[in-house]
Amino acid sequence: MSAPVKTTCPYCGVGCGVLAYPDGRVKGDPDHPANKGRLCSKGSALGETLDTEGRLLAPQIGGQPAGWDAALDLVAQQFREAVENYGPDSVAFYGSGQLLTEDYYVANKLMKGFIGSANMDTNSRLCMASSVAGHKRAFGTDTVPGIYEDLELADLVVLVGSNLAWCHPVLYQRIAAAKVSRPHMRVVVVDPRRTATCDLADQHLAIVPGTDVALFNTVLSHISRHGAVDVAFSSRVSGLKKALLAAFEEDPKVTGLSDVEMATFCEAFTKTEKVVTVYSQGVNQACDGTDKVNAILNCHLATGRIGRPGMGPFSITGQPNAMGGREVGGLSNMLACHLDLDVSKHRAAVETFWQAPNLAQTAGFKAVDLFEAMADGQIRALWIMSTNPAVSMPEADRVRLAIKKCPFVVVSDVVARTDTSVLADVLLPAAAWGEKEGTVTNSDRTISRQRAFLPAPGEARPDWQIICDVAKRMGWIEAFGFTSPVEIFREHATLSGIAAEFGRDFDISAARDISDHDYETWEPRRWPFKREGGDGRFFGNGQFFTPNGLGRAVSVRQKPLAPRDQAYPFILNTGRVRDHWHTMTRTGKSARLSGHMAEPFVEIHPNDAKDEGVAPADLVKLETTDGTAILRARVTDCIPQGNLFVPMHWTAQWSSDGRVGGAIHASVDPISGQPALKFSRARLMSFQPVWYGFALSTQVFDPSTDYWALAKCKSGYSAELAGLQGVEDWSIFARELFGQGEKMESQVISPERGSARILLSQHGVLTGALFVSPRPVEVARGFLINHLGQPFNSNLLAGRPAVDQPDPGAAVCSCFNVGANTIRTAIESKGLRNVDEIGAALQAGTNCGSCRPELRSLLRSVLHESAQLNVAVE
Ligand code: SF4
Repeated sequence: MSAPVKTTCPYCGVGCGVLAYPDGRVKGDPDHPANKGRLCSKGSALGETLDTEGRLLAPQIGGQPAGWDAALDLVAQQFREAVENYGPDSVAFYGSGQLLTEDYYVANKLMKGFIGSANMDTNSRLCMASSVAGHKRAFGTDTVPGIYEDLELADLVVLVGSNLAWCHPVLYQRIAAAKVSRPHMRVVVVDPRRTATCDLADQHLAIVPGTDVALFNTVLSHISRHGAVDVAFSSRVSGLKKALLAAFEEDPKVTGLSDVEMATFCEAFTKTEKVVTVYSQGVNQACDGTDKVNAILNCHLATGRIGRPGMGPFSITGQPNAMGGREVGGLSNMLACHLDLDVSKHRAAVETFWQAPNLAQTAGFKAVDLFEAMADGQIRALWIMSTNPAVSMPEADRVRLAIKKCPFVVVSDVVARTDTSVLADVLLPAAAWGEKEGTVTNSDRTISRQRAFLPAPGEARPDWQIICDVAKRMGWIEAFGFTSPVEIFREHATLSGIAAEFGRDFDISAARDISDHDYETWEPRRWPFKREGGDGRFFGNGQFFTPNGLGRAVSVRQKPLAPRDQAYPFILNTGRVRDHWHTMTRTGKSARLSGHMAEPFVEIHPNDAKDEGVAPADLVKLETTDGTAILRARVTDCIPQGNLFVPMHWTAQWSSDGRVGGAIHASVDPISGQPALKFSRARLMSFQPVWYGFALSTQVFDPSTDYWALAKCKSGYSAELAGLQGVEDWSIFARELFGQGEKMESQVISPERGSARILLSQHGVLTGALFVSPRPVEVARGFLINHLGQPFNSNLLAGRPAVDQPDPGAAVCSCFNVGANTIRTAIESKGLRNVDEIGAALQAGTNCGSCRPELRSLLRSVLHESAQLNVAVE
């Protein structure tokens, strides 16, 4: 058996170490400090995403295959001409937190140092720009003060706007394990929704959306009133008096919390010395995201609970290398190595170091402004790297039009067809995870290696090489003459030493002369690289990176909440689901991951559903002033009344109308430029198909109907369908849907009832199935999927198992494919009483552990139902 390659997971900002085997198996790296051997459901399924199906394997110009030389020549020529004719600010790069640090570094260097514009922004703008801005206001630099161990050492962990159980599962598991070994640890979840993370919560504060500033100002005033301000530490903090005055003015009632809830939380925060506040997109993705961040930081600065074991504010990044992007200055208002674009001596230092002929002098366009400028015709050439803005940006339909309008668009990506790549003039095939070399930085500043363990397929090349090849063609041969990632790393590390001389925090200059061998064998290492007596934390000593060395409390006030809009009465919130990642280009390949949630949906409170006449599993049309989406209704009291939640992942490749970005309004935080992806006004409109369908096929098929959502499933693909017009002949429909070659083996069609059940087979194997009903189709999907590609059996026409056969139900445990019905039955029949007993009986929850909150929730509901039954019987 070949030895595994040590690499890093390409999904979230936890940055878990992965042992990858050339045969595609993956395991958690027990030696990696982020995960110590754990992986979540997404990380565990990485091996299923490595095939080359759908990969971009060769450069294309105008949709036609082209050689690398022709494609690179064209890109260099178009960018050069745009700069010559319209100036440097007429071109732009739009990158991604998926890029490795070395890729990011050369892209930033090319745009800001040589082309001469700062129009290099990234999808990290959508993710953590408000944290960056908040950090810089409070600390003078973009510094995450703490380390992951603090989450385990804390006595109180406050999770704000973070569904950690689904979005950063391994950190969630680390806290869960710490809570077991230190039972006095308390966890508070601040989130309008009751998410899976609440499974761990001692207190859930379901605040009114967008009232985080009021909440933390109330905490701050409570800290002050109860004498908990750390007098010695706060002498190292400027602005505290003003921040306190603002906090005293705050009205806690706007949060919607009861007096008891508020008092309990304030008291816990005030009295607990070891408190960590973890925050994520629920804080950042708001029009006042930066103020929210500073409201949290103020509480830690006032109490001096920062940069010491078990204490501190902790921003958790969404993407695998968002932090690395911040380090190289990958946002349009930053320079490399945490140097500032608006500080002339910083610019001069970078200019000298790079020997840059055209160093950018002013900030470039932030993401939302960039696409607006494109729509206005200001951007003549655009290069999109490893991201999918036609899905992920707010007002994504307008973004799509803006990209279409741009005269020259390059997309470098690993995937051939995305919602964005279809708009490109030139496509450049990039090497994917497992095929490229470089480094990434996770949320606690640990730099880890990504290593190749597979050859790049076709003509795919690493991003750093593609960027350098274009730069050289534009005339900057020496500055971009890198021949390997380690050479880029050395230059980056050297520049960080210069940044440190300017008093910047990011300093990895100890690695400036790293040998090829040491880079190759690099072990995860947190910056700043350990100094004498240092423990990897910042600010515990009261030294900050501001001009006077003091931390800054920032006076912030809760913004008034806009009154309810009668025309658009709902607040639309968006976010992630457990088993998908971003726009599904990787996780969509895994049947296991797709099985957890196979269709875009909208969560709606039961009372709202009743008022709107929406029944569970109905299709509904969500509408905002900017766009629409058609989604499956999930009626649940996990969402507060008046609110809707829609996942961000679905694209036009996987659904007809599930791309929610088109419906999100592009309002931004004025300081960070981060869009408010968690707050749009919306309404629900009726969408009334005359038929609903569920289809399965061993082959990929074109499900194009009035509504469709496609998903990978075991042995093939599944699709939910719906139509606004009747279908005359379901047999013909099925043949056209699946292709002519299939044999129509068995069917029951009832025109009077408007229903049809059709099974197709080839060589005695079930190859396709179609179930149609005038109402949302009620068949046992998990059961049918398990029979796809298996010996044909006409009994499957029933759409559900015979009484003596089990229907697994919707997948809960992705690792062992254990469905909800299987779990329910086992709880009832075997008398299971806790999650460990479920694991012992069914294996569910015993591998990655990502499903454990859902197992507990199922357990509670079954036990609750049976208790009610007993009461009824008694
Ligand atoms: Fe990857 Fe999961 Fe770890 Fe995030 S928590 S890095 S998705 S394995």
